[in-house]
Amino acid sequence: MISVEEAKARLIEDAAEFNRKGWMSGTSGNLSIKTGDVPLRYVITASGRDKGKLTPADFVLVGEEGEVLEPVDGKSSAETMLHEAVYREDFAIGAVYHVHTVAATLLSMYGEEYIRFSGLEMLKGLGFSTHEADIAIPVIENTQDIRALGLELATHLEPDVPGFLLRGHGLYTWGKTPFEARRHVEIWDFLFEYKLKEWMLTRPFPAHAHTGPSSRPGS
Ligand SMILES: [Zn+2]
Repeated sequence: MISVEEAKARLIEDAAEFNRKGWMSGTSGNLSIKTGDVPLRYVITASGRDKGKLTPADFVLVGEEGEVLEPVDGKSSAETMLHEAVYREDFAIGAVYHVHTVAATLLSMYGEEYIRFSGLEMLKGLGFSTHEADIAIPVIENTQDIRALGLELATHLEPDVPGFLLRGHGLYTWGKTPFEARRHVEIWDFLFEYKLKEWMLTRPFPAHAHTGPSSRPGS
């Protein structure tokens, strides 16, 4: 198991790189690494910190009820509950990464309940044994009630697919190790860019985004 100090060092490095790539702009997104199984413990980026300039003071250690254990006055984001829900899904998951990439956000606005990928060599990077895999990532409606979503998250997930999109918001992905979670962020970004360009080549325009009840399709 990774120590709290090792987890912070890894998260500082990964957040800085994601920030440079425009995947964690400003204070957006949050990353966590599990540091204990029984009881569940994980280190997660504290709420409202610049992801390009994190220091070891910009994290909180969270317990199994989602409570902040250290520092005593530390604050975690509401999205901590989604990290917790993912860890509870599978004992083997060791890191959960949440980023706001342009491709993930845009694609989620134009997709339906799932976005499918098949026949792509890059699918192997998500752990599938062949490029002939046919997979679908769920697109879950964004909500301000993250706690409620955390409780029902398991009903939305696809078996063996390490990730989901929140509509108009971003990507959650995970891995057995921080290295695997980071690789999954990169692979998903490739797949989302690919899908956006495929749609631009093959779909009739204008496409309609999920912009809520005030949208005016066709205008
Ligand atoms: Zn977010």
